[in-house]
Amino acid sequence: LDHSQPVLKIEHLSKKFGGVVAVNDLSFEVRPGEILGLIGPNGSGKTTVFNLISGVYPIDSGDILFEKKNLVGQPPTAIVLSGISRTFQNIRLFGSMTVLENVQTALHTASNYSLLEAFIQWPWSVNPMEQRQREQALELLKLVDLEEYADRVAKTLPYGLQRKLEIARALALNPRLLLLDEPAAGMNPKESLELVDLIARIHKLRNLTIILIEHHMDVVMNICERIVVINFGSKIAEGTPQEIQCNPAVLEAYLGD
Ligand code: ADP
Repeated sequence: LDHSQPVLKIEHLSKKFGGVVAVNDLSFEVRPGEILGLIGPNGSGKTTVFNLISGVYPIDSGDILFEKKNLVGQPPTAIVLSGISRTFQNIRLFGSMTVLENVQTALHTASNYSLLEAFIQWPWSVNPMEQRQREQALELLKLVDLEEYADRVAKTLPYGLQRKLEIARALALNPRLLLLDEPAAGMNPKESLELVDLIARIHKLRNLTIILIEHHMDVVMNICERIVVINFGSKIAEGTPQEIQCNPAVLEAYLGD
């Protein structure tokens, strides 16, 4: 990690949907290794920012620089391969696959495995690459405390555990920057406390840079080193959790929520 340079630089980013300005001339930076909170009232443009970074929607104007490389115009797959992965506000898993298979398919995406597999006929009953991916998938499940659920069908897991599985899938893509979109949504207080621990653990273990969108303020204030606050697509404040908590513009934005 080059600590003098931001990992991600958002510059004058704008996006409209019809007449709705979802993101409005937004600029902020993410420093190497930090957990940055992205907060704001409902509909303020947070998820759109993630959708623009991950290439889900084309931007109207601005730049998104990841490790100095401009991501604008790149397809989502290229952005994943360059080192950014994310989770979704509405969980996206392969519901009828097992927990283990869900992670394995993500590992597949991140490797050239499927390509090689097409050329090599393994003489053994167990393909060594498949075996290795199985072990890697189990490692990831262990990391998010889901090892014991490996063979469960994903959609039968309680909601909070599905959220953890989404994180394991995002990690399987081997990101340097991880975007977490409301990972504590639908979790009870005990589960969100565990989630804070989990995020802190993977952050440290994987040397990750993280942007976290989260409604649960206790989660945000507990693990974010810095916070960017947006309202109507524009940045209204930026600072440490302490600074944000007593910022009048932030309090006003949330009162209207
Ligand atoms: P947040 O994540 O902060 O709740 P969003 O980024 O989801 O906010 O939404 C910001 C604004 O953009 C909202 O007014 C929302 O209705 C609008 N918006 C987001 N995505 C779309 C879309 N695909 N089509 C039309 N409008 C959208």
